[in-house]
Amino acid sequence: MRFDTVIIGGGLAGLVCGIRLQKAGKKCAIISAGQSAMHFSSGTFDLLGRLPDGTQVDNPIEAIASLNKEHPYVIIGKDNVKKYADEAPAFFKECGIEVAGNAEKNSWRITPTGERKPAWLTLGDFTPLASKDEKIGTKALIVNILGYLDFNTKFLADSFEKQGTVCRISSIKLEEMERLRKNPSEMRATNIARVMDRDGIWEKAAAQVKEMIKDEDVVVLPAVFGLKDASVVEKMRAAIGVKTIFVATMPPSVPGIRSQMTLKAEFEKAGGRFLLGDTVTDAAFDENGNVTSVGTVNFGDIRVYADDFVLATGSFFSKGLIATPDNVVEPVFGVDIAFAEGRDKWFDRNFWKKQEYISYGAEVTSELNAQMKGQPVSNLYAIGSILTGSNALYEGCGGGTAIISALYAADNILKK
Ligand SMILES: Cc1cc2nc3c(=O)[nH]c(=O)nc-3n(C[C@H](O)[C@H](O)[C@H](O)COP(=O)(O)OP(=O)(O)OC[C@H]3O[C@@H](n4cnc5c(N)ncnc54)[C@H](O)[C@@H]3O)c2cc1C
Repeated sequence: MRFDTVIIGGGLAGLVCGIRLQKAGKKCAIISAGQSAMHFSSGTFDLLGRLPDGTQVDNPIEAIASLNKEHPYVIIGKDNVKKYADEAPAFFKECGIEVAGNAEKNSWRITPTGERKPAWLTLGDFTPLASKDEKIGTKALIVNILGYLDFNTKFLADSFEKQGTVCRISSIKLEEMERLRKNPSEMRATNIARVMDRDGIWEKAAAQVKEMIKDEDVVVLPAVFGLKDASVVEKMRAAIGVKTIFVATMPPSVPGIRSQMTLKAEFEKAGGRFLLGDTVTDAAFDENGNVTSVGTVNFGDIRVYADDFVLATGSFFSKGLIATPDNVVEPVFGVDIAFAEGRDKWFDRNFWKKQEYISYGAEVTSELNAQMKGQPVSNLYAIGSILTGSNALYEGCGGGTAIISALYAADNILKK
């Protein structure tokens, strides 16, 4: 099997890169083992929320000057980061995903616990806040679905009340949800969304919510609507009739999964091959150290050949990196990985503190070529959360790193 480019990993980075290349005329395949971080998405793509020393970032583009030289944004270059960040909303819109946001001014998102975090691009489901302290309304009606445990109404009420919003908590009961309620493990965001999508059950939910409103000027709901069709969210807002804010639930993330499916569909619509549920196991190299082919579990002896390969396998979470007691390896190509010697330096026993291992990953050149034994591999690019140099969780830069490195690597391949 032969392609122009083979991308290993179909998360945010792999999909953005694949769409860009495929639309530019390259024949691409994405081989992806399974779920990606998007299945756990908060509903925003974060560009840069904090500097490594903890300083809050208001203008991510300006803050690039304060990052260390290993950070992917510094490697890619401030001007390129700005260019790709400015392009991103139109890129997603063309794929059918509405986002709002500005690379030079962070907005704020409400987390499932009611905390507020800086955000760059917010999916249309959610309402970005202009400031950390913005009041969502004077009186809020927070509505859950009876029996759903992954939406913590009490935490949310406590946090809104700190900003001066008076909150009332209630729940809706739908007979269509009763089968799920019999088994609490079935009462998960995606299962609820599937029921809501069926025969317009969401309309019944919206009607119940509307009936509950007394004098509230804002309604808060869990983001469990429109697994396949984002327009359901807007229709809910219109049907409820007062300002309605959807808040991210504990995983799985309905808006994240919908976005992943939308990007996959866009890649396939452009002619790309998405090979889901297959794991790339190994690579072959020519005498110059360039990659010639990869092997996969499903294809067995049949090799997958390409001119260029993109490593988008994610971090430890997605098995893009594997840790042994004293080593961190990238299991497909064996590219150079930056990590600290001595396992005790990898993590802080305080779970809430910055965890160093999150920043471990592939070392790359200025063009994002991965390296092996210090030598760049000219037809192998690394993108997304497998890159070293940033701490996506602490700095809040995971989505931005994935999107911007994907577009940059794709353009570097196209320039060849
Ligand atoms: C739980 C969680 C939640 C997050 N939420 C957010 C958020 O809300 N906003 C934000 O900005 N950032 C978030 N991040 C940061 C996140 O890492 C990035 O935003 C981004 O989605 C990462 O994309 P990626 O494509 O690099 O990696 P991933 O999403 O991890 O995708 C890697 C893909 O590669 C596949 N893969 C791995 N090895 C192989 C192999 N050998 N063969 C084939 N396929 C393989 C995996 O199955 C997976 O599908 C989150 C991270 C985590 C871990």
